[in-house]
Amino acid sequence: MTQESPELQFETLVSLCKRRGFVFPSSEIYGGIAGFWDYGPLGVEMKNNIKRAWWRAMVQERDDVVGIDASIIMNPRVWQASGHVDVFTDPMIDCKNCKHRFRADHIDSDVCPDCGAQGQFTEVRPFNLMFKTFVGPVEESAAQVYLRPETAQAMFINFENVVTSMRRKLPFGIAQIGRSFRNEITPGNFIFRDREFEQMEMEFFCKPGSDEEWHAHWIQKRFNWFKGLGIREENLRIRPHDAKELSHYSKATSDIEYRFEAMGWSELEGIANRTDFDLKQHAAYSGKSLSYFDEETNEHIVPYVIEPALGVDRTFLVLLYDAYREEEVKGEKRVYLQLHPSVAPIQVAVLPLSRNEKLTPLAREVYGRLRPHFMTQFDDAQSIGRRYRRQDEIGTPLCVTVDFDSLEDAAVTIRERDSMEQSRMRIEELVAILREKLDS
Ligand SMILES: [Zn+2]
Repeated sequence: MTQESPELQFETLVSLCKRRGFVFPSSEIYGGIAGFWDYGPLGVEMKNNIKRAWWRAMVQERDDVVGIDASIIMNPRVWQASGHVDVFTDPMIDCKNCKHRFRADHIDSDVCPDCGAQGQFTEVRPFNLMFKTFVGPVEESAAQVYLRPETAQAMFINFENVVTSMRRKLPFGIAQIGRSFRNEITPGNFIFRDREFEQMEMEFFCKPGSDEEWHAHWIQKRFNWFKGLGIREENLRIRPHDAKELSHYSKATSDIEYRFEAMGWSELEGIANRTDFDLKQHAAYSGKSLSYFDEETNEHIVPYVIEPALGVDRTFLVLLYDAYREEEVKGEKRVYLQLHPSVAPIQVAVLPLSRNEKLTPLAREVYGRLRPHFMTQFDDAQSIGRRYRRQDEIGTPLCVTVDFDSLEDAAVTIRERDSMEQSRMRIEELVAILREKLDS
């Protein structure tokens, strides 16, 4: 019965996201701004659910990882030490005719794709992707700072603070969720590549020599996390980088990739073995020793670092993309999002059969019962059929319908999103039953 659309285009999702309040173009009434998006009322719920799921798996359920929440603007020396000032660049060319700018590696002839001028390109120049701004009242180079292009560096520069304050022994990790900014020359594919985005990164410090084992551990852990969120396994794969793809700091990196019908296999998360590069760099630039005293061997060592790093926005896109379903029911198209209950923006919708004044008080009472336990929505506008379709389209796993029989038998109908099956349950047992269904 279920017919997945043969090739789900991003336009379909962009339109659903806007219509249903997931994601809006930023500054839309002023014509928008490329590479920036606003999350709407449902989008922010889902985004928070994703972040909570990650934090729970990476910090709260482990005894070897702690979290931090660092400032976005840091001392600019951080970005000299990390290499971002020198090497965080894309090769760029300008068209002298229309003044448009392109990534040189996206242009394969001497014809401008925007105006058609031939042979008008400038030389290739490196373009730094960090956003610059100024601290204090003077706009001069001494006051220039950067909006962070990644959250990771904050974990390296707080290594000593965390070891000391939390009395940590190797191996252990420091995790963070936060905004990052990259002045991408060509943002695109909806929220896949943004200029402002949110990252979830963890730096796992371990003894040199144990790094390869930990790298393998985290690749598998992270792959399983996506499966646990309901992403279909056939759309996921692990791809190790070959030598020429590796970043300047990396000994080995594997990407977890997702297969978009619209653009093929694309990076969802990178898990890098960053060696001791970052701690050594920051020790050299700051003059502070960022080593660890190993009590077993009585030696100071510089730990190796394994980094699983992904974007919240990209995870959000993949979850929506993978959950999108279209099918025909009684001659009509039904669209639903088969979202995992842990990330669905609304978990339970309470729907009185109609706005009849006899039904409303009981429906409100049921709603009040459920709200402390689940993200719940009350909806009594339009026909019950339209309301089911609306909940399907935003991925609500369960609907609870209050009808005239409910007034007599103190029971309600539970309707399941994926199968559309309905069953009758006593209001007394509703919380326990819904919890069981949502957890299974
Ligand atoms: Zn041009």
